[in-house]
Amino acid sequence: MTERLVVVGGDAAGMTAAARARRRRDSDELEIVAFERGRYMSYSACGIPYLVGGVVTDVDSLVARSPEEHRRNGIDARTGHEVVAIDVNQQRVRVRQLADDGGSGVEREEPFDQLVVATGAVPARPELPGVDADGIFGVQTLGDGVAVRGAVDERKPRRAVVVGGGYIGLEMAEALVRRGIEVALVDRTDQPMARALDDDMGALVADALRAVGVTLHLGEPVEGFEAEDGAVRAVRTAARTLPADIVLLGLGVRANSRLAGEAGLAIGETGGIVTDTRMETSAGGVWAAGDCVESVHRVTGQRVTIALGTHANKQGRVVGINVTGGDARFPGVVGTAASKICSYEVARTGITERQAGEIGLDVVAATIESTTRAGYFPGASPIKVKVVAARDDGTIVGGQIVGEEGAGKRIDVLATAIWNQMTVEEVAGLDLSYAPPVSPVWDPVLVAARKVADML
Ligand SMILES: Cc1cc2nc3c(=O)[nH]c(=O)nc-3n(C[C@H](O)[C@H](O)[C@H](O)COP(=O)(O)OP(=O)(O)OC[C@H]3O[C@@H](n4cnc5c(N)ncnc54)[C@H](O)[C@@H]3O)c2cc1C
Repeated sequence: MTERLVVVGGDAAGMTAAARARRRRDSDELEIVAFERGRYMSYSACGIPYLVGGVVTDVDSLVARSPEEHRRNGIDARTGHEVVAIDVNQQRVRVRQLADDGGSGVEREEPFDQLVVATGAVPARPELPGVDADGIFGVQTLGDGVAVRGAVDERKPRRAVVVGGGYIGLEMAEALVRRGIEVALVDRTDQPMARALDDDMGALVADALRAVGVTLHLGEPVEGFEAEDGAVRAVRTAARTLPADIVLLGLGVRANSRLAGEAGLAIGETGGIVTDTRMETSAGGVWAAGDCVESVHRVTGQRVTIALGTHANKQGRVVGINVTGGDARFPGVVGTAASKICSYEVARTGITERQAGEIGLDVVAATIESTTRAGYFPGASPIKVKVVAARDDGTIVGGQIVGEEGAGKRIDVLATAIWNQMTVEEVAGLDLSYAPPVSPVWDPVLVAARKVADML
């Protein structure tokens, strides 16, 4: 008998699960139906800042696989279809064919034997006066990105305000600068990327933003938005009123777990869907993956929601294997992330010195300055590496890197070390590569680990 797998959400997590399941089971054994409420499937949300900034001109180049391609591969991919309710006991979902996508707006019941919830995240929208004014954008889906680019192309805004200095806010700020827009960035904390980086590293990012002309208003919470004829005109902070023709919200995202919660699936304190390591939810045969779920942080042991494509793809793969009778596990996260902010590659992994303080972990930390290539080699540029280690046994618990080209990917050495609970002494002795065009003879990561080892 043919089983029926239904997927809710047609991007990284959902379609990786669907594609993996398809590869493991033929259509006569497993029917796969994927519902996506937007127009696009299997797209790169990570490319949105480059689409808005004009680095990428063709929106289709951000689509890894179109709905037609999925259908050719035996997945019944349906865009413009929103799942509005899940009935776990009756094993069916209620689906609305969206009227504004050419559909009839009618709702239909669709049965499933197994279900994958991959509904992603939603950008945080503060409950402040005027937040619903036209011209205030959050970005999560490719549809959101296309809407922002459309607004920039058509309305030709002169002044933009970005609210929130997380990496998405900063990437969007840079994108708007590229489009010749005057950009102000407001954040309630004293440094950009305050959750991701310690202050000493965040200060470098702030300098890079100022260098391209972004005006920073740090330590200033936003109090509201002013509108004229329904369109945003200004952002009000505790200290000033900033004129704005367009506003980008970069206040982080929250797991989009409402549908799952309404269906009675367990939701954790973080707001993410609770799963086991096989990505099965509290209901048997119902799986979840991507930005909508909680993961376990391998350093702190805490449950966290970290919205990254890296996790969404891996979790989707795990689901695709398990729905077809396999036994794959998602082993957790260590909080590795990278971004390019103006001239700098910015990368981090594990926990910061500040987060260590918050969880009562006694740490030793050191920051070193070096170069990305041998100092004498053309193109050598500055790099700063920070390593954080537990004081009692020297285990590395965090790393941060800020530097020009060639700096960021070095974080992967520290991520691997944290994953394997290596000490600073062990990392300082690692056999890393060297040639003058790619590294100094002591790679900057080794120098930072050695410095912390000397402090223990
Ligand atoms: C601007 C930006 C830059 C980023 N850069 C990076 C980066 O550099 N590196 C990195 O690792 N990550 C990055 N990310 C994060 C990454 O894009 C996400 O973690 C990833 O897309 C999550 O995949 P997902 O499938 O879980 O969720 P999503 O990509 O959000 O997909 C969920 C899909 O579900 C659909 N959906 C939701 N509810 C329903 C419903 N009820 N019915 C039908 N469909 C529904 C949505 O329309 C959406 O298409 C970035 C994100 C943004 C916005």
